[in-house]
Parts: sequence; structure tokens; C-alpha cells
Amino acid sequence: MGKLSAKLRSVAGSAYGHWCPGCKEMHVIHVGSPNDCGAQWTFDGNVDTPTFSPSVNIRCEWSKLEDEAGLKDEACHYFLKAGQLQFLPDSTHELAGQTVPLPDLPDGVLPCPA
Ligand SMILES: [Zn+2]
Repeated sequence: MGKLSAKLRSVAGSAYGHWCPGCKEMHVIHVGSPNDCGAQWTFDGNVDTPTFSPSVNIRCEWSKLEDEAGLKDEACHYFLKAGQLQFLPDSTHELAGQTVPLPDLPDGVLPCPA
């Protein structure tokens, strides 16, 4: 696990972590192999202004946690294109429907193991 740029960190060799200003946490995008929900993305290799496709929907992973913890239904659904986070309207946080630049990774924050 290492920092690839100010914006992106590699996780477990085949996944990438970035800071989400909507959820105020690290999200991990799986490229080399699917995540627990069977989702997998492509990455253009640009660590400064990354593009991942297709869109990332964090609801899937959260749903399992919600089942265990009884938390409210939350979602984070976005495109990450050319270093821009395009949050879709079905996100439940304050940045839903907005496009913001991918922020720098905060110091000292590590993604959960992917
Ligand atoms: Zn998010």
C-alpha cells in the first residue's frame, strides 16, 4: 500500500484509494480483481487526474454493513473522470448532484483493507 500521487493511493496491489469529500472517508476502487460485491473498474493509469469507469456506487458495500449495524440507508454514487468527482443525485450526502475536483489525500488516513 503506497501513495501514488497527492490524490491516489494503491491498496492491496490491485485497488486504488481516494478521499471522498462527500462521505469524508476513503473509498477503494477495485481494478485488478472484483470487490466483495463483484464490482470491478478500469483505470486509465493517470495518478494525478485519474479516470475510473464505470461509475462507483458505494451503496453496495455499505448495505452489508448496514445489515450488521442497523444503520440508515446512505449512498455515494459518482463518476471519477479526469480528476473530477461527479456525484450523482442519488447520493445521500451534501455533494449530491455536484462535480468537485478530486481532493488531495489527507495525511495519516488509511483505507480499510480491501
Ligand atoms: Zn463517498
